[in-house]
Amino acid sequence: MKVGFKRLFLSAIAIGMMMTNVTYAKKINMNLFYDGKNHPYNASEVKINIDGKELQPEDMPPVIIDGRTVLPMRLIAKALGCEVLWNEETKQAFVMNDDFTVAFTLGSKKGIKNGKEFTMDVPAMVVNDRTMLPVRALAQALDLDITWDDPNRTVNIGAGASPTTPTTPTTPTTPTTPTTPTTQAIKVFQASVPTSTTASQVFTIEADQAIYSYDEIYVDDGRIVLDIQNATSSLSEKITATNSNIVTAIRTAQHDSNGIPVTRIVFDLSGKKTKTITQSADKKKIIITFEQPVIDEISLSNRGDMDKLVVGASGSLGAKVSTLSNPQRIVVDIPNVQSKVENELSTKGLSYINAARTGMYDANTFRIVLEVGQLTDFSWKEENGELTLEVRKSTLENLSYDSTSNILTLENVKSIDIDDIRKNDRHTEGYYELTLPGNYESVYGYGTLKIGNDVMNNIIVSTTGGDTVIRFNQNRYSEYVVKETKNGYEIAAKNPKDVYNKVVLLDAGHGGKDPGTNGNGLVEKNIALSVALKVQKCLENSGVKVYMTRDSDVYPENSLRAKTANQIADLMVSVHLNSAGSNTTANGTETLYQVHSNENGSKLTSLKAAEIMQSNLIQAFGTTNRGVKRRTDLLILNGTTVPAILVETCFLSNPGDAIKISSSTNQDIVAMAIAKAITEMMDDYTIR
Ligand SMILES: [Zn+2]
Repeated sequence: MKVGFKRLFLSAIAIGMMMTNVTYAKKINMNLFYDGKNHPYNASEVKINIDGKELQPEDMPPVIIDGRTVLPMRLIAKALGCEVLWNEETKQAFVMNDDFTVAFTLGSKKGIKNGKEFTMDVPAMVVNDRTMLPVRALAQALDLDITWDDPNRTVNIGAGASPTTPTTPTTPTTPTTPTTPTTQAIKVFQASVPTSTTASQVFTIEADQAIYSYDEIYVDDGRIVLDIQNATSSLSEKITATNSNIVTAIRTAQHDSNGIPVTRIVFDLSGKKTKTITQSADKKKIIITFEQPVIDEISLSNRGDMDKLVVGASGSLGAKVSTLSNPQRIVVDIPNVQSKVENELSTKGLSYINAARTGMYDANTFRIVLEVGQLTDFSWKEENGELTLEVRKSTLENLSYDSTSNILTLENVKSIDIDDIRKNDRHTEGYYELTLPGNYESVYGYGTLKIGNDVMNNIIVSTTGGDTVIRFNQNRYSEYVVKETKNGYEIAAKNPKDVYNKVVLLDAGHGGKDPGTNGNGLVEKNIALSVALKVQKCLENSGVKVYMTRDSDVYPENSLRAKTANQIADLMVSVHLNSAGSNTTANGTETLYQVHSNENGSKLTSLKAAEIMQSNLIQAFGTTNRGVKRRTDLLILNGTTVPAILVETCFLSNPGDAIKISSSTNQDIVAMAIAKAITEMMDDYTIR
């Protein structure tokens, strides 16, 4: 049982590590954040004894909420020698050891132990970002003897009845002769999935008794539907961590057919797939095996006004097609296939495809890359195991781009109401889109306009949902100004500084491959991003235009962050969290700066910006004031020519600081202080 669950959820799990122990005073005075609100908490401490030994709480102590004692799950589980895993996607916590796996879903009274559902009187909850379990639920879930010693405010935990282990299904050496089906309903209790997307794609549904009757019901090619007769299920209603590119989810539902319970199991597929369904010898398992299609043909040919790629395979491909620029490329990714075709593809005689390559992109994805020329477009389709992709000349017309002024001119062939143009600035993703209501394909065509200067990489004109979308793939952050002239419509890619009076570049430190520091279960890149996004929100409608270096878990190079600041911003503010490693006492807030050679006292300097930031943060956040510090070794500060500061919000290595910054409310307080400091700098000082 437990193996199945581990496999099922391991991929989607993030584990926070608790690093330090804190001894709490007899009185606990702290803010508890739950149900979306802060609740001041002031009460005597609650102790936990396990087999007579007192347990030291980590960052989150046991507390009493609404008359119920709730305990930090990770602390108890670890003390009992269990592993704890958290699945963010499903909001489920798993406590497991060699004998059992228990799953708790936040806010739900239903838990699953060894695949069997049980009901708790109160659900698991999150307090200060920690999963907390009521004592009763814990006793029920882990089969523990738990008593409450009121005078000493102590929870006594002793291992009680050992948890029940499900019987391991055995595969008999000789097939058993089917006997008359029992009238008692069978229980479907386990779904096993592949260990990874690259492992053989075998899925198993398992019951406690032989499955004598099941039907495969055809609905469409996108799913497999199995109805198991006279059965009930204890499977989770939806399993999405399938470790598969073929099966995207497994769903179960229960229904009744003439008084007989029927368990329906649905496998959602990523397209039509070739599969076989068998049963184990003891008939307790239904086994679905998917074949990996084999690519047996890849060809390129010229058909006059187009070049054509054909990929043939023994089964459905489920290809994904995307583009890359510099040079312009079309990328075809085919998951879960084998290929018998060589890597070399000749582009001789082709008009629009300049080069072509194939190979395994990663362990399970076969990739075809086509380098294409200027002004090309493509379309593709997949049918019956054959993918065809056609590359032809772009049909763009009646528009032009001036690389000096960075203005796109749409000739006035058909009138456009420029007030109705919708703007979508996705600068962190490298593009900006303008949507013109209405279909202008007959006027401007569609396709890619290659530019390749400092400001613009290329411009893609397309029609979607009856609207015309102009996507500017940028080499620099820009704001777009549309105006009507005698020539038509001009869309100018402007430096934000030419459009806005005050521009700040907010930088969430680290990201992606670079987690930064960590401590007390918190990771710097995540907290920095969370705070930076909150600052961005605070500055909406403030008169300060905000750009971000990142708004997701990605890593832009530090040199690029500094370069962007210099290109488009009046000020750069970089958000970080500090650490003193194993020294858990160091705490507080500091703001780092570097003196830039072009700075002088008549304008805002990095030092002045740091001082304003530091005083605002200390006032609002109440942390230890470590002051402003000149740093000569940081790329972000050295690479900038505009005033730039780096905020070390507080220490993740210090339990007190860490608990503060872990709460969303405190992050709001920090963000508001940073936003206030930024507006102060820009209002009170000359910035240009
Ligand atoms: Zn950092």
